[in-house]
Order: sequence, then structure tokens, then C-alpha cells
Amino acid sequence: MHLARFPRVRLAHLPTPLEPMARLTKHFGGPTLYVKRDDCTGLASGGNKTRKLEYLMAEALREGADTILTQGAVQSNHCRQTAAAAARLGMKCFLLFEKRVTDADDAYLNSGNVLLDRIYGASILEYDAGTDMNTALGEVADKVRSEGSTPYIIPGGGSNKVGALGYANCALELVAQANDMDVKIDHIIHATGSAGTQGGLVAGLKVINAGIPVLGIGVNAPQDIQETRVFNLAEETADYLGVPGGVARSDIVANCNYIGEGYGVPTQGMLDAVHLAAHMEGLLFDPVYSGKGLDGMFDLISKGHFGKNDTLVFIHTGGSVGLFGYQNVFG
Ligand SMILES: *Cc1c(COP(=O)(O)O)cnc(C)c1O
Repeated sequence: MHLARFPRVRLAHLPTPLEPMARLTKHFGGPTLYVKRDDCTGLASGGNKTRKLEYLMAEALREGADTILTQGAVQSNHCRQTAAAAARLGMKCFLLFEKRVTDADDAYLNSGNVLLDRIYGASILEYDAGTDMNTALGEVADKVRSEGSTPYIIPGGGSNKVGALGYANCALELVAQANDMDVKIDHIIHATGSAGTQGGLVAGLKVINAGIPVLGIGVNAPQDIQETRVFNLAEETADYLGVPGGVARSDIVANCNYIGEGYGVPTQGMLDAVHLAAHMEGLLFDPVYSGKGLDGMFDLISKGHFGKNDTLVFIHTGGSVGLFGYQNVFG
């Protein structure tokens, strides 16, 4: 796998640290827990979207774009990192928000991620829940074009084969780190949403033949839909990397039992997991993604799903800025 073949702009602080979570390991009595700190990618306070944006923004620049369009929920971490990347590269940025979380309060609508989007100078457009956001992106792109600018559309979560290269790169980085540190990884676990993180990781791990299984903890869709989405993207990414057929359907595993009532809706398990990680490791996870992912990992550990002598790496995909949008549930 030779990633230098693909255009890339440097936006992230890499490599991100791979750190032991010694107190949590002791708390559960094994397995051994590590955290891959992709919350420390730097841009806009960090998160997993920055790795994807390195490849997406490079493509946008190559196509001569001067305006970036993307979409997400109001508290989208992806939109925050995209707004920062566009600012950094001197491009205009339109964020299309789908108001997916109903009964949102003032903090949700104005603090956390969206506060930073405004500071970065992004133009924000709001849509009702259920809007076809891809159609909406197309319409805004037409308008941008008619005004003489050149738009580039980044799909929700930055999840296509170009963005997923960022997580194929993370697979390389993580395995190299683990080799250097003599850490034998038995499982990689992380929160999965728009599928680019898991799709890219699995494609990367398969292409380098690492033999490490990945477990995605779902945050919105049911298991069959989530796994299909990840598989399709992993296949496309492996193909793009020059290894068609490199990923099998059985390589894709998502557990979607920790979503609760729906995307962005807090669960007791998420609240407990966020508090436990804060109290035991000084780490901040987020209410929408990494907190639910952590809840899933903790619960599966408690149920004996992993061997006591296994080593687990939880990829911290970021998002703690979102805590400020959920003040009421943590207060
Ligand atoms: C977007 C996001 C995820 C999920 O990554 P996908 O590539 O969309 O599956 C996980 N955690 C955080 C904090 C995110 O912002």
C-alpha cells in the first residue's frame, strides 16, 4: 500500500499517540486497554474527520475548487473540522445542517461544534429532519456555480473512498506503532457512523495483511444496514488502493445495540461510560459517537466477550466539543 500516490494536504498532527489506559484495565481486570488518540489530530480541536479531509481537500484543490460544501447534524464534528480545513486553505465553506435531533435546546443549537463553525466563518443553512441532503447539496452547488465560484461537495462524514484513505493511512500508522511498542493487538474498536472510518481501517488492515479484526459500535443505523454500508465502502477503498476483492463481507462487524432511541439521543450507558473514562483516565469522550462506542466496549468487556489476556485498542475518534451542546444531560 503506497499512499503517496494519492494527493494529500497536511492538516493533522500525526502520528496520534497510542496510550495505555492502565486504570481502566485494572478496573475491569482485563483485557488490556489502549486508546489511539485520534481526538488529538489537532485541527479545530481534533477528531477523525481530519484524516479524511487531508485527502478530500487535496482533491478539491486539484479540481480548482474555491468553495467547500458538506452536510451533517447541527452538532456535527465533521462540519466543524471541514469549516476549519476550508479556512486554513482559504476556501469558502457552506455547512448544510439537517435538524436530525428534535427537541433540541439552546445549547445544542448554539454551543459546542456549531459555535466553532460560526467562529470559523462557515455559512450555515438549515434543513428539516428527513430532507434529502444530497439533493440539497446539489442545489447549493448549482447556486455557487451560478455565482461564478467552483464548488466541491464532501459527502456527510467525509465518507467516500477518497476520505476513507485517511483511515487506511491510520491502519498503517497504528500497526507500525504497535510493532515499535511490542503491543500485539487482538481487537480494534471504535464508533461507526457514516462508515468511512471503519471502511478505511478495514481496507487498510486487509491490504497490509495485519490480521486484526475491527469492531464498529453503531450510532445510528441497524446492524445489517450499517455493515452493508461499511462493506461497500471498504470494498471500494480496497479497489482504489489497487487490491480489488481485498475485503470480505465477513471482515465487517458492527454491533448496533448501544444506539438507544436514536442518533444523537443520549443513553444512560453513554453517560456512565463518559464519566468513567473521565474519572479513571482524564479522557473526554463525546455524547454522540465515542461515548456510545465506549459504552459498547465496556459492556462487552463486562459480559466476557473478550479474553482477559487480549489487548484492545479503542480508537478515540474525538468529538468532546459536542459535550458543550449536551450540557443539560451532563449537568
Ligand atoms: C464522525 C464520527 C465518528 C464516526 O465515523 P464515521 O467515519 O462517520 O463512521 C465517530 N466519532 C466521532 C467523534 C465522529 O465525529
